[in-house]
Amino acid sequence: MAGNMDSDLATYVATTSVCDTHEHMRSEEQWLREGPVDVLADVFSNYSPADLVSAGMSEQDMTELLQGKKQDLDKRWAAVEQPWKRIRFTGYGEAVAIGARELYGIEELSLESIIAAQPRYEALRRPGAQLKLFKDAGLDHMQINDLQRRPPKPDAVAPEFYLYDLSWVQMSIHDVDYAQLAEWTGVTVKDLATLRQAIEAMFARYGRNAIAVKLQQAYSRPLWWEKRSDAEAELALQAILHDPKGVDVRLRHCLGDWCLARGVEQAGALKLPVKFHTGYIAGTARMQLDDIRPAGLCALLREFPQARFVLMHMGYPYSEELISLAKHYTGVYASMCWAWSIAPRQACEFVRRFIHTAPVSKLLAFGGDSAWPTPTVAYCRQMRKWLTRALEQEVADGDWSERQAIEVAGQILRQNHYQCFDIDGLRARQRTLGQ
Ligand SMILES: [Zn+2]
Repeated sequence: MAGNMDSDLATYVATTSVCDTHEHMRSEEQWLREGPVDVLADVFSNYSPADLVSAGMSEQDMTELLQGKKQDLDKRWAAVEQPWKRIRFTGYGEAVAIGARELYGIEELSLESIIAAQPRYEALRRPGAQLKLFKDAGLDHMQINDLQRRPPKPDAVAPEFYLYDLSWVQMSIHDVDYAQLAEWTGVTVKDLATLRQAIEAMFARYGRNAIAVKLQQAYSRPLWWEKRSDAEAELALQAILHDPKGVDVRLRHCLGDWCLARGVEQAGALKLPVKFHTGYIAGTARMQLDDIRPAGLCALLREFPQARFVLMHMGYPYSEELISLAKHYTGVYASMCWAWSIAPRQACEFVRRFIHTAPVSKLLAFGGDSAWPTPTVAYCRQMRKWLTRALEQEVADGDWSERQAIEVAGQILRQNHYQCFDIDGLRARQRTLGQ
């Protein structure tokens, strides 16, 4: 069933301004300097390369596709033409097609259409273009997890639009650069008491610049959390300080659990939600399914009933676990960032199941999870398409009126975010700090 583009619901979803809960966006300066070399590299940048490799494309061809030379366009297209046909119906593939159509007017990818579109790409990459792309795509603001893991500060270009997370992942996997930490906090870590002081100083200095706290520990260690005593944590810390490189990973996880708990306490005191990557792992040939289940966070959720958590990516493929956590724990929200491109049909199902199971106020519909701007534009358009379809089905089934479906869309696209995150407060602080 294609969406009825004439309905009030379809128009509402297509045009409403969207809060973007999660990107890894680099600066415009980096995009202009190091961004994809041409249209071909641009439309396939971000997640689709993983599906291409899954479909049999060699890693070398994939690297050439993204990082090869403009002059080798013929060869790069020849290597991707067949793999592209195998992935064009996946969520990542659909986002490639949407990006090609929306940004470059390409209806069907071919060598000719890619060459013809190159001037449009050149025209796009001009100073000021990045923010304009996002505004034109209808984004209200963007929450960014800077992969450099620098402490958050007001954005130099658009402090009311780009809002930054405070990264806590190095603490929880416990791969901490203590010299760097001392620079950021003024505290040299010698024992658990000074580690606690450094953690408090991180939040005291940088917490007020953050929109949330972010952890993608699922990439480096299991999500499963256990409560650790000060005595256990002190032993682990001393072992790590004594032998920074060679320590048993179990000791790192022990101290990581302790540091995560301290981070959640601090975040709670500042009313900062704590975002967790849950579920599916980007890339290929690395995912350990048991390690990524949202269920791994239950002990932490029980331990901190006053804290607020945003569990991401619909926990795919453990989506029912995530919905049940949002139903059961007051502090748990679900963000569907990246979900629409991983598995769009499941994302439709997720929205419908979530709303018929857990409070609608705790669902956040979008985040592209991209480091370059053009994929985010495509992912946002993709989300609008599938969300329309999901909500139209509720109306068609007779469960909601169109007016109710429109109300739900407004909540999950933007209103819930203003309840979950202190967006207005952060913007006000950044205005003051910027003066
Ligand atoms: Zn991410």
